[in-house]
Amino acid sequence: MSRVLIIGAGGVSTVTVKKCARLPEFFDEIYLASRTVSKCEALQQEVGEDRVKAVFALDADNADEVEKLINQVKPDLVINLALPYQDLPIMDACLATGTDYLDTANYEPKDEAKFEYKWQWAYQDKFKNAGIMALLGSGFDPGVTNVFTAYAAKHYFDEIHYLDIVDCNGGDHGQAFATNFNPEINIREITQRGKYFENGEWKETDPLSVRKDLDYQNIGVRPSYMMYHEELESIVKHIPTIKRARFWMTFGEEYLTHLRVLEGIGMTSIEPVEFQGQKIVPLEFLKAVLPNPGSLAEGYTGMTCIGTYITGIKDGKEKTIFIYNNCEHAKTNEEVGAQAVSYTTGVPAMIGAKLMLDGTWKKPGVWNMEQFDPDPFMEELGKHGLPWHVLECDESPFTK
Ligand code: NDP
Repeated sequence: MSRVLIIGAGGVSTVTVKKCARLPEFFDEIYLASRTVSKCEALQQEVGEDRVKAVFALDADNADEVEKLINQVKPDLVINLALPYQDLPIMDACLATGTDYLDTANYEPKDEAKFEYKWQWAYQDKFKNAGIMALLGSGFDPGVTNVFTAYAAKHYFDEIHYLDIVDCNGGDHGQAFATNFNPEINIREITQRGKYFENGEWKETDPLSVRKDLDYQNIGVRPSYMMYHEELESIVKHIPTIKRARFWMTFGEEYLTHLRVLEGIGMTSIEPVEFQGQKIVPLEFLKAVLPNPGSLAEGYTGMTCIGTYITGIKDGKEKTIFIYNNCEHAKTNEEVGAQAVSYTTGVPAMIGAKLMLDGTWKKPGVWNMEQFDPDPFMEELGKHGLPWHVLECDESPFTK
């Protein structure tokens, strides 16, 4: 018997709500709250009032408001699928009410495009002392990529040395320019300086300045660009044998051209500007005119391939494996009415919640995904629509 409060009603939440709704034996009572309550109501209509028991309007930037709602609903777990800005107020409310917490993206301050775990890791002792748990980054990347790495460390290597996380969306949504998850968060992420870990140090690169053409399973060769991604920070901390860790994402020429133009004319800036007597943030305005990622699903063709290339030592010999998942946009649309990027995030959020609720992954404190036994999570992935594969590579596509 468990009761969850899901915060946020966007693309990712839609998938998590629908997946949780199908497992009444674990999620017998689902409550949904978000800034725009009409989106919660629409989702409730879709899955039925017997599964989503009640919906609420909530400003999750306000910890007191979240605390009040938690006291009213009394959930066993809060699943935060709003935006990274809300992580800390929601964690504060969980702390005040003694409630477990899960999210899919680490905190970043609204006025500075900088995401780091330090703010959430600072809650470690407070959560431990309160006897409650926070599971950080239970999406695909971060999330499944952390679990893939932990799985490789457990079953395939004595020591992991090199990690390259690759994220390819080989899909076509037919729009000139659109992001696959929240445009504001996505554009803040990809316009930042690149960063990777090597020999104990973080090294920086100019944004999207390092390219490598990689061959993705069932997709083909795609230009992939090195960028910083949050799971690198926790994985190198928790798997200290790693000598180098990098993250690569594919972008098409058309996407990059649009991005360059938007950046060039200041539309991706987070500095407020004066407009007709009020202050507006260009990137927030841009989000308002771009397609809603949740609306891309219809007619979206192709698939994603996200995985981890890992090189290390087993029984004295060096080897490389690739653990990956392919996820088809049309299939996820048919199953839950969502595109594959929302799906590959929303399903792991449901799985993380399930493992917390049934006690499989449960300990007081603040944890990243690679800190738990990966096996039960890997088992659930296949069962809930994200089958994975391990490829033993003759040689790594990445030079040392
Ligand atoms: P959306 O923009 O589609 O949805 C975000 C939801 O949060 C919206 O319903 C929004 O409300 C709501 N929200 C925003 N601010 C507040 C607030 N102050 N109080 C209450 N609700 C609020 O985003 P996505 O679904 O695409 O992404 C959700 C999260 O998942 C993000 O944090 C994103 O970074 C993360 N993510 C993680 C991935 C991973 O693999 N780990 C991959 C993709 C996304 P409104 O409708 O009013 O705007």
